Amino acid sequence: MYLKMENKKELRNWLDKMNLSHPLVIAGPCSAETEEQVLTIAHALKETDATVFRAGIWKPRTRPGNFEGVGALGLKWLQRAKEETGLLTTTEVANAHHVDLALKHDVDILWIGARTTVSPFIIQEIADALKGTDKICLIKNPVNPDLSLWLGAVERFYKSDIPNLGVIHRGFSTYEKTRYRNNPEWQIAIDLQNRFPDLPLILDPSHIAGRRDIIFELCQTALDLNYDGMMVETHHDPDNAWSDASQQITPETLRQMTVDLRIRKEEGDAVEFKNKLATMRTQIDVIDHQLIEMLGKRMKIADAIGKLKLDNNVAILQSKRWNEILGRMILEGEEHQLSEEFILRIYKAIHQESINHQKKVNNLKEESLH
Ligand code: PEP
Ligand code: MN
Repeated sequence: MYLKMENKKELRNWLDKMNLSHPLVIAGPCSAETEEQVLTIAHALKETDATVFRAGIWKPRTRPGNFEGVGALGLKWLQRAKEETGLLTTTEVANAHHVDLALKHDVDILWIGARTTVSPFIIQEIADALKGTDKICLIKNPVNPDLSLWLGAVERFYKSDIPNLGVIHRGFSTYEKTRYRNNPEWQIAIDLQNRFPDLPLILDPSHIAGRRDIIFELCQTALDLNYDGMMVETHHDPDNAWSDASQQITPETLRQMTVDLRIRKEEGDAVEFKNKLATMRTQIDVIDHQLIEMLGKRMKIADAIGKLKLDNNVAILQSKRWNEILGRMILEGEEHQLSEEFILRIYKAIHQESINHQKKVNNLKEESLH
């Protein structure tokens, strides 16, 4: 089914028509709060690379009691922001009623939130409400790391004769606490990009980061992976924003950021080769980063086992268990075209590091006894 969308250059017509000399920048507050706030931010964004002004009107909150958005009233403020600044506008729609109101107020781009993409019923309702529209629709990844669910939503829109589509990568929810609010899981977006190279891909660093200080590095990784743009939450007074305060940046920070980001966007064969190479190198960097993270996690568990063995007076080295692991990994390695020799070398090194860790746990315990 997805095949119908593959190699469809026209998926990016809407972006090409914008004729931008830089990646697409969508910016604006998490939520529209007051008319004055909307207009202040929109005017400040005129000094940046932003082409599209974003503001949430209806806010999906994980728990009730937080600010749930100003509602339809805010759509008038968006209209006014567009008239005064010439920026295109975008807001999140989460049901057919939102779609109706957004269309009536001439919102240019509609985005589908992460909590909506998880539900095929709601996605279908929205796709039906938008049937045949020439509005641009951007679909955020679902909250859970599931590429099919994400693509399924894109496909429902495509089947509903909505040709101007794009996707927004906003990271994935995990139970485990990491440095991110939502784990990027870059490989999911890379897989999507490999399958649909013409579907515009936009990064939402704000919801991945959940904090200001790593927005720049996230945007740089996305540009190195050849993303088409970014949607950055921007507020004139971030600390006092009514929602997502800790992750919003000022228009001035955004302006400086777009100056500092490295962009590879020249034309020509040699450049195309370099772009491809750089994209693949970034893919490798992403995986290397994951490898180290996983090894770190593995060693933490080894530490805990070391402590358990010590408390129970069991020897650190247990050859039977080690041989079992090795046998299993050699077989798994074969499935991934990895030679036995390679697996042996890697696992010997990992095993040695685990033993060193466990010895360290032992020594610490002994030291504290003295
Ligand atoms: C937002 O963009 O403000 C938002 C609610 O995003 P998400 O759907 O990615 O959580
Ligand atoms: Mn937000």
